[in-house]
This record gives sequence, structure tokens and C-alpha cells, in this order.
Amino acid sequence: MKRVLVFEAHGDDMEFFAGGTIAKFAAAGHEVIVVVATDNDKGSFELGADEMRALRDRELNGAADVLGVARVIPLGYSDGDLAYDAPPRELRGQFMRLIREVKPDIMFTWDPFAPYEGHPDHRAVAVAANEAASFAHFPNFYPEHAADGVQPHYVSEHWYFAKSPRDQNKFVDIDAHIDTKIEALWQHEAQMVLTVADMKCQQQASGLNIPWLEALDPHDYRDVIAKQMKAAGRAAAGRSGLDCTYAEGFRRTRFGGIESLAKDQQIAEDV
Ligand SMILES: [Zn+2]
Repeated sequence: MKRVLVFEAHGDDMEFFAGGTIAKFAAAGHEVIVVVATDNDKGSFELGADEMRALRDRELNGAADVLGVARVIPLGYSDGDLAYDAPPRELRGQFMRLIREVKPDIMFTWDPFAPYEGHPDHRAVAVAANEAASFAHFPNFYPEHAADGVQPHYVSEHWYFAKSPRDQNKFVDIDAHIDTKIEALWQHEAQMVLTVADMKCQQQASGLNIPWLEALDPHDYRDVIAKQMKAAGRAAAGRSGLDCTYAEGFRRTRFGGIESLAKDQQIAEDV
């Protein structure tokens, strides 16, 4: 059994980019723990910040149950303001302490080197999580952790969400888990309503004629989210070289690239 630790900015980040793969890890008996840095309080055109915070736990736990996630750890930073409210050294230290406590074999998070990432929370999580995972086994980083009985830990694999096909070097067949991924996304009701409402904003501002979108009530998000996820899964499968209909693609590094020193040997895949 491996332990998987996910660092995400918002409750639905992992579901969009890795929901099928996380469901596959969980179904194979691995333990998945998810850290959600912010409280999602900006994610609605309809609900205020307090109402959004009240919804958060229900949606997070609903999606975690669908995916088979063992534990969700919400950190509660303000949505959109993570980089401003959490100084980089503080956030990195918080993530490093969680790594040293949870002791994951595998980390999933945003890619700190992905270009054109517009969301400041995604960038802040990416940098802090990557640095924390890279240095958590060095005892002289944040030595106060050891004083609390939390010991250094080496994270073997870093899996980064990859929006751009150019960055993807690892693909996972999610044929058996695409429906679970979609079901988990549907649990994030406020965020799904926002996603469709934002598409309608874009359509209205553009003046483009897209009748099905003009007619769509954002609360009827299920079909459009399912179609989007299946289209993305088919596109990734087409690039993957795998014999599957749906896939997810990641930028992955394992064991710091030590494989290059043992070219005749293979490290086994977990999923
Ligand atoms: Zn996000």
C-alpha cells in the first residue's frame, strides 16, 4: 500500500485534472489524503462568502467519499488571496510539516513550472508544495518540526497536474474511473454552477451564437461537465499510447530522476 498526498488550492482542482487517477489509486487499496489550501469563498455569482464557506465541507466530503479519499485536510486560507495571506515560507513550512506527518510516497499538486497559470492560488500551492516535497527529507529545513517529534521524510514521486499536453510525460488509463471522476466533480455543486455561469459570461460578452449554452441554466451543469471531462479524457487517451478510451496526463518525476543511472532497470508502476 502506498500513501498519496494531494495539495490543491480549491476543492475541485484535483477532481478536474486527476480525479480518475486518484479514484484508481484508492480503488487499488492505496491511501489518499487531500490538503485543500483555501476555503472556496469567492467561487459563486449567487452566494456570499459566508454561504460558500458553509457549503465547503459538505462538498469536499461528498467528493472525497465518491473518490475513496481517506481524509481531507482544509487549511482555510481565503480563496484568491492565498499568496497574499500566507507568506511563502509559512505555507512551505505548513506543507512540509504535513508531508513529515503523513509520510506520503507520492505527491500530486499544481506544476510550479507550468507557463500561463493565471490563478495566484494555484501558483502559490505549486511552489510551496514542490519545495516542501523536495526538501522534507533534509533535517535542517524547519528543524522545529523535529523538536515536535515530526521526522524528515523523502517523497518518492511528484505528479503535477498538466493543463498543457506539451508537459505530459505520464498517462493513466481511467476507463474504469471516468464516471467516478464526473460524479466527484458534480459534488462540487457551487463550483460547477460557477463554471457554467462563467462560460455564459464569456459567450454573452463575445456575442458568439452558441444556442445550447445560451439556453442552459447553470444549475443544470451535469451534462456539460460530463461531456467536457469525456472529451478531455478522449484527447489524453489519444496522446497516451495506451489502449483505452479515457486517460489523464501528468508531468511526473520519480526518485529525483535516479532512473537515468540504471537504464536497464524499470521501476514498477502503481496504477
Ligand atoms: Zn483552482
